[in-house]
This record gives sequence, structure tokens and C-alpha cells, in this order.
Amino acid sequence: MSEFAIDFPTLGDLGDAWIKRHCRVPDGFTRGKPFEMADWQFWCHANRYRVRKDAVFVPPERVGPDEPPVLNQAFFYRMTLVVAPQKTGKGPFSASQVAFEACGPSVFAGWAVGGEVYLCADYGCECGWGDDPDDGYVYQAGEPMGMRHPSPLIQITANSEDQAANIYRPLTAMIRLGPLKRMMAVREGFIRILGLSEQDDFDRIDVVTASARSRLGNPISDAEQDEAGLYTKQNKMVDTADTQARGAAGMGGRTHLTTNVWNPTENSYAQQIYEAHEDDVFVFYRDPNTLRGDDGKLLRYENAAERRRIHEYAYEGSWWVNLDSIEALAKSLMKRDPAQAERFFGNRLVSGSGKWVDVEDWDGKARKDEAGNTGTFIVQPRTAVALGMDLSNNNDWTGIRLETEDKYQFTPRYDVGGDLRPTVWNPANFGGFIPRGEVRSAVDYLSTEFRIVRAYIDPAGSAMGAVDESVLDDDSWRTELAEWAAKYGPKVFIPWSCARITPMHASLEQFRSAIRNPDSSFSHDADVDTRNHVANAVMVAKTGGRYVIGKPHGADHQKIDQAMSSDLAHEATMDALRDGDFAAPSEMLIYM
Ligand SMILES: [Zn+2]
Repeated sequence: MSEFAIDFPTLGDLGDAWIKRHCRVPDGFTRGKPFEMADWQFWCHANRYRVRKDAVFVPPERVGPDEPPVLNQAFFYRMTLVVAPQKTGKGPFSASQVAFEACGPSVFAGWAVGGEVYLCADYGCECGWGDDPDDGYVYQAGEPMGMRHPSPLIQITANSEDQAANIYRPLTAMIRLGPLKRMMAVREGFIRILGLSEQDDFDRIDVVTASARSRLGNPISDAEQDEAGLYTKQNKMVDTADTQARGAAGMGGRTHLTTNVWNPTENSYAQQIYEAHEDDVFVFYRDPNTLRGDDGKLLRYENAAERRRIHEYAYEGSWWVNLDSIEALAKSLMKRDPAQAERFFGNRLVSGSGKWVDVEDWDGKARKDEAGNTGTFIVQPRTAVALGMDLSNNNDWTGIRLETEDKYQFTPRYDVGGDLRPTVWNPANFGGFIPRGEVRSAVDYLSTEFRIVRAYIDPAGSAMGAVDESVLDDDSWRTELAEWAAKYGPKVFIPWSCARITPMHASLEQFRSAIRNPDSSFSHDADVDTRNHVANAVMVAKTGGRYVIGKPHGADHQKIDQAMSSDLAHEATMDALRDGDFAAPSEMLIYM
């Protein structure tokens, strides 16, 4: 299969043969038969044991302070991440990898001249493999050779005991059903690896979960981190996984992640590893967004025929999976949680679920005239408005949005010598900087054109999670803010820092529900820049279930500043309504 061309040195072929010889299918109709990896599993295995071309073997008898063992340094990848849908057999696959790490030739042992035979008897296995070379594994010239780890210490990691069973259960079955039962013993709560040091702290396989962390920090040779897409900072599993990676690195070990596609709003451990794009991390992920329909567009998961094509792709090679039953499961889950169904069975990183609001919902709030057309509605001069403004210096945009008492929001224009310009400034159009003169002039103009009852201004221009330190330098807008407060009133022009997570989260939630709720009276002018920025905004997870909005990861060009201005305008509007600021000013009341 061309998708999986192996043109690099690897212990994978040896490992494949060893696993077939020693591991048994844990369940189903073929229970007890030799466990054979599917194509995609072998691909992951071969990459996991890919050996560096320049790896130099230090024989055990020479290992010492001057010549440390090579162990993980022999391998091309420091970590692997396998992303695959529900029921593709990630658990049994990981179980076979654990068995291989525990008593198979998973350690680099030099380069073959060619013709050498792997002998189980050399490593304490009495199964007789290799005694007859015709029945054994014979190395090719130049192929890396493998040996057993002298003191394996392996952890199976999961959020809960139940999830750890995804690997632990098939592993114990694999052991009991075949020759592995003479090399490993299933004890109460752990698995003892036999025939090595016989020390209590090594040669064992333990389970580590959010609630069973006592063995965390041990110098492990391997960790299988299952469902790493559920490890978050909040449940302390990001910390657990990091600690294991450090414990492994210190001992020449490595860590391996398996998971369903994660929810992009949760910033899980798997998501962080995936998004870091590091060269020494192997990633297997069949992204359904590489597929196109006959119309050239992305396949839609909500369309049954297109969903079938997505499943065929995501489950390709997992011959034991029945796509009709996957379809039934997916359909049933779609009724409750379509995004989760698309992630679990469609294997798709559903960008929609990470979005702050669906652009369709935003578009649905565009105010229409009687003919059903959107467009700019005239807001009469001297109308009372609330103002939101996200300020920046360079790189990001600066913009102003206004909102009326009846919650119509719009990007106003300001007059420069008869030229009416929108209050949105893209630094790219101004030599890389925000034209402060234009912004000041716009504020002055708006304050005479309208009656600004409240203005919330983010001085740092900080869309959290998206801003680098350089933006926070101190040629901030302090001077202007002080001037505006002096001129228009400190109770009207109010700095509103978007860097404060709790109020920011509350504000975004309030605005989001106004946008999504078909019955809310919020409407807007269908301004193109604001629409784009709202569409770009994704939720960035914070502690305590809170979030702020940011740019999509790695997409600094996808601006969100007008979404921030828009949120601030709505926040100011709601607060002004609450405080009665929209009521006519008292001097007018005198004449009424
Ligand atoms: Zn054997």
C-alpha cells in the first residue's frame, strides 16, 4: 500500500514477526489466534521503532559512565501519537506494543551483517522461536537488530481505571492465551515481567490514572498514554503525562499516545502535542479533510452518503469493523451530540465545535429591511449608543463598534474632509502601524455625531491566547484613554481589560447567547470585517471551565479584533441598559 512506504531502518519487521509469534488475539471469533497488526497498525509500529541511520550500539558488557546505553537515542522519534476513531482496535494494538516493550526485542542492538537469526532462547523465552532458522526471523544485511530491555518499567496511563482497561484487559488476555504466560505474570493490580532482574521496582507493568498516581515520577522505559485527548490541565492529566515523559527521558524510555480526535476547545495533552508539530514526534492521523466530494468540497458528516465515505477512509484496514454498525452508533450519537459523533466516528477535528459562534448564527442576526435585504441602516445623529473598542499598536487591528439601546450594532463611519471612513484600521494599510491620529479623530467625530453613553475600551488590544509579549510594550494607549476620560467623563469612557479572564468569559458568554438565541433582539449591520473576525474566533480554554477567544492556532493572520470590539460594545450596551444610561440626559428632561 503506497500510503505506507517503509524506506527507513526499523525494528518494525522484527517486531511484527515477534508479535505474531507471541501475542494472541484477545477476543472475538479469532480469539487465541496469532495477533497480526493491520496495515495502519504496522505503519505506526514501524515508525515507532524507526532507527536513526547513525545509531551506534553499545553492547551491554561495555555500558558504563564513558559509554552510556543508547536506548531511546537509537530511535528517530521520541514520542508517537496515534489518532484513530472509536473501535479501530487502538487498545489491542497498544497491548501488543506493551508486550513487545516488556519482553520483545524492542531495544536497538546494532546493525546486521545479514543472515543473523533472532533467538528467543537468548532472552529467556522458551518458545523455541529461532531454534530452527527456517521458522525464525532472519535479519537482512544492514537491518537494525533488536534485544530485550534489561529492566522494563512500563505504565499504562488513562483518566480512569475503566479507560486503562482498554489496554490492560486485552493485554492480560494476550498473556494468558499464548507463550507470553511464561514471561509475564498477571498479579493483583499489576503485571510482573519474569526472567529479568527480579527487583520489585522494575520489570513490571503498572496502571496510572488520575486517582492512582503513586508510581508517577518513576524512571519508566515506556508509557502508553491512552485517550490522551481527554487529558487536560483541569483533571491534572497533562501534568501526569508530562511527568511520565520526563521520567522516560531520564531513563532512555519513551511515551506513546493513542486517542480519539479531541475536542479542540479543551486544549488537551494530545492537542498540544499535535499542534506543536515537533520533528521528533510521529503522528498518525487520517484527516477526513483531505477528502473531497464530487463538487470539490469537503465531505459533510451530516450527509449519509458522504458520512459513509468518511467512515470508509477513517476505518480503512480495520477489517474487523462493520461500517453498518459504526453508522448506527454515529447516527444515534449525532442526535445528542453531533460534534462528538463527528470526532469519535468521523475522526474529524471539528473546527465548528472550537468556534466561538457559528458564522450562520451570526449571519442570522443581520438586520434586514422589508424586502429581506441586509445593509447599513441609518442611525440618526444624536442617537444614544454604547461603544466598544479593541486597541492595538501593530500587527493586530484596531476597531470601533457601536450599539444602540435596541441592540442594533454597527461599524460607524467618521468624516475626514467629506470622506466617510469606517472605524476599522488594518495596520497593513497604514505602513504596519495603527494610525493613532485617525483613531483619535474618529472618537472625536463619533462623540459629536452620537451621544455615547458608555464606552468600553481594551487598552492592551489583548485577545487572550493569541497575543505575544511584544504587543504589551508600553507605547500603549494610556495617554489617549486619559484624555478621553477627561473629555467625555471617566464614567463614560472606561478601560475594560480583556485580559481579565472571569469578566471576559462572562462577557463572551452573554454575547454568544444573544447571537445564538433566535429570540434575542440583538441585530447587526452585516459588516464584512466584523463577520470575518467573528468567524475566525475560537475558544481558548482557561481554568475552571472558562474560556476566552483567540485566533485559530498557528493562524496569526486570521484576525479577531473586531469580534472583541463587537463584544465590548455589547457588554457596554448591557451595562448601560442595566444602569439606565440610555435615558435622556437630565438637562433635556428639564425642558420636557
Ligand atoms: Zn519466544
